[in-house]
Amino acid sequence: EVPLYELMRRTAEANPEKQALDFMGRRMSYGRLWEETRRFARALQDLGVQPGDRVAIMLPNAPQFIIAFYGALLAGAVAVNTNPLYTPRELSHQLRDSGAETLVILDLLWPRYAEVADEVPVKRVITTGLQDYLPFPKNWLFPLKAKKEGRWVNLPRDPKRHDWKRLLQAPPSPKEHPIQTDDLALLQYTGGTTGVSKGAMLTHRNLISNVYQVDAWEPGQVWKNGVMLSVIPFFHVYGMTVSMNYSVMRGMKMVLLPRFEIAEVVAAIEKHRVTHFPGVPTMYVAFNTFPGIENRNIRTIKVCLSGAAPLPVEVATKFEELTGAKLVEGYGLTEAAPVTHCNPLYGERKVGSIGLPFPSVDAFCADPEGKPLPPGEVGELVVKGPNVMKGYWNRPEETAQTLKDGWLFTGDVARMDEEGYFYIVDRKKDMIIAGGYNIYPREVEEVLYQHPAVKEAAVVGVPDAYRGETVKAFVVLKEGYADEVSEEDLRAFAKERLAAYKVPKLWEFRDDLPKTAVGKILRRMLRKEEEEKQR
Ligand code: ATP
Repeated sequence: EVPLYELMRRTAEANPEKQALDFMGRRMSYGRLWEETRRFARALQDLGVQPGDRVAIMLPNAPQFIIAFYGALLAGAVAVNTNPLYTPRELSHQLRDSGAETLVILDLLWPRYAEVADEVPVKRVITTGLQDYLPFPKNWLFPLKAKKEGRWVNLPRDPKRHDWKRLLQAPPSPKEHPIQTDDLALLQYTGGTTGVSKGAMLTHRNLISNVYQVDAWEPGQVWKNGVMLSVIPFFHVYGMTVSMNYSVMRGMKMVLLPRFEIAEVVAAIEKHRVTHFPGVPTMYVAFNTFPGIENRNIRTIKVCLSGAAPLPVEVATKFEELTGAKLVEGYGLTEAAPVTHCNPLYGERKVGSIGLPFPSVDAFCADPEGKPLPPGEVGELVVKGPNVMKGYWNRPEETAQTLKDGWLFTGDVARMDEEGYFYIVDRKKDMIIAGGYNIYPREVEEVLYQHPAVKEAAVVGVPDAYRGETVKAFVVLKEGYADEVSEEDLRAFAKERLAAYKVPKLWEFRDDLPKTAVGKILRRMLRKEEEEKQR
């Protein structure tokens, strides 16, 4: 029952010399990290940040992220993770919705803030560049900057703007506020895959619970001196808990990579003898298919957790053969800080399953009235636990629909087997009801993906006067197949493998499909286009 930043204090006080991070060759100890965190907290307070104020952080995985996040909490403020890939429109929504008056932003991203500066409540902006923590001189970065933005960004003189390096000269002595574990620590905006992005209110207890739940899942502290590859972004709650907070709690060294570039990932694994590599399925696909991977020194990896989307079995098996590591699938969502289910690391893992509920998580599949269903039956996944959010920021209606008596209705449809393992069927909002039949797009898409010509597929329900909804497939073909494969071919292929009512009636070929910032296909956009067409 302590605030989250106590994790860093404890690690730093127990082991001040221990290496906390490596950032492109720059090393920092836990003692130094904690000192900079305290300086930053004090600087925020000196700028006028009050307890409960929101501090938005728009940074990639770099030392500044860790310092700004823990520093904001130590100052009594609430962090607002902000995706550096956001467009000005998305940034504006999040700053206005959260009411953040302070923004910590990478210098390269300044132009995006500048575009919306007049419409957001931000009063002070703290800018920092990657070069602030690099071991080589600033000029070295010139080509990198020029390449990234197409031009050198000159930061304007602006009375609202404060320079990170100047601020870090503050004394390492913030005023400490009595923080309750139920106080807000983080506003984490949902991915926006199924609707408008909402701020999940995560408390100190929520975040710390999930760290200890992950710790209990990885028993025995076998890899106490583990090395964490921090490539999943910290601004997403998955990277925040599993990669950052977990490492800080255990005192592991974090190897920070600000972007996913497979050659850099493999080189970092070799160089730092990485033991932990949490990721998302597409990362393991890139790893497995990297040319020459068989001959690299990658067998130091021990523990990998995959989440965010289904992990194909072949991908997990190949990865385990290559590395000798365990790669297991888990499940989570922003609203649960995030992990609620995982396959056991050393017990039985089941193919296609998200595993068992985490310690202190209760879970069941619910019927439309919210009552538990027996094993084998399909219903909405409902969870409860110390990691479940307080609600959505300023959205009492959505909160009431999602949280009932402490139970979180996940919006995912699942089933549980006799042994208590859970399987995700699909997202509830994407379910299609055609002529009285329930159809889960994911099942149809999986069949389409089996066709050798299909690169991407998305299946949605479109309004139909007679059947209520009808099934439509959007397909992106692999290069070179455009003249070879027709709608009829795909329809015949689907017909052999699916009951007639599931076979798409309408087909459309596209060059690409709309996706979220983390690469999830936006079925809702496709649905909207169809609805508009019919108007
Ligand atoms: P929004 O809630 O705004 O629509 P989002 O659902 O993409 O966006 P996140 O909280 O980032 O926001 O993602 C959680 C979702 O990811 C889950 O609800 C689930 O649909 C999906 N997911 C996570 N892990 C898995 C998994 N192992 N298998 C299948 N789906 C998963």
